[in-house]
Amino acid sequence: THFGFSQVPVQEKQRRVASVFSSVASKYDLMNDLMSFGVHRLWKRFVIDLAGVRAGEKVLDVAGGTGDLTREFAKAVGPKGLSILSDINAAMLGEGRNRLADAGLVTVPAVQANAEKLPFADDTFDLITIGFGLRNVTDKDAALRSMTRCLKPGGRLMVLEFSKPVLEPLAKVYDQYSFKLLPLMGKLVANDADSYRYLAESIRMHPDQATLKGMMENAGLSRVQVYNLTGGIVAVHRGFKL
Ligand code: SAM
Repeated sequence: THFGFSQVPVQEKQRRVASVFSSVASKYDLMNDLMSFGVHRLWKRFVIDLAGVRAGEKVLDVAGGTGDLTREFAKAVGPKGLSILSDINAAMLGEGRNRLADAGLVTVPAVQANAEKLPFADDTFDLITIGFGLRNVTDKDAALRSMTRCLKPGGRLMVLEFSKPVLEPLAKVYDQYSFKLLPLMGKLVANDADSYRYLAESIRMHPDQATLKGMMENAGLSRVQVYNLTGGIVAVHRGFKL
C-alpha cells in the first residue's frame, strides 16, 4: 500500500505521521545511522556549533524525538539553564526519555506538544530548534508562528531539515536513493517499507531553501540565513526574533 501522501486530508496526515513514528520509535536511532550513513550526527553537530548555547540559557527542542539535540543543549546550559525535549508522539518521547537517562540527564523535562500550538508562554526561550521535524508538521506556517511566539526578543529559531540538492547530478542520485534504497532498508531493518516510503515522499514535498526562508520571514523572523550541508541535501535555517 502506497501512501499517496499529497492527496490525503489534514487529519489523515496527522494520523499517518503518528503511526509512522509510533512504529519506528524503538528502531529510530539505528535507522538514522543506517540511512544517513552516520552523517546525521555531523548535521546535528553543525547545528549545535552554530547555536553556540551558553550557560544559563533556556532552550526548547521541538519534535525532538530521541533527543540528540536536547542532550547537547542540556550539557551546554548547565544547572542554571533549561533544556526541554518536546515531541507530539508519546512513543518517541518515551525513547527520548530513555536516551536522556542513559546520558545521566534525568532532570531534563520531556513535554508532549504539537509544534503548531506550543503550550509555553510568549517570550520564553533563547533558542528553539526543530530538527527533521518541520516536514512532518501539517500546518508549517502555524508551527513557525508558534515557535516565534515562544522566543524571547533577540532569541533565535534554527530549523534543520532535508532540502533541495543544489547540483542536478546529486539530485538524481539522491532521488534513486530515497525512493528505491530507503524503503528497502526500512523493510529489511524495521520490516516497515511504508514508513520509509512516507519519509522519502515527505522529503520531496518539503519546501526548498528559498521558500522556507520566506515562510520564516512571514512568521516574523529577521536576518534569516541559510546554510547548505552535504550539497543541500540538508539545510539549516536560522532566524532571529527582533
Ligand atoms: N529531532 C529528532 C532528530 O533529529 O533525530 C527527531 C526527528 S524525527 C524524524 C521527527 C519527529 O517529529 C518525530 O519524533 C515526530 O513524532 C515529530 N512530530 C511530527 N509532527 C509533529 C508535530 N506536529 N509537533 C511536534 N512534533 C511532531
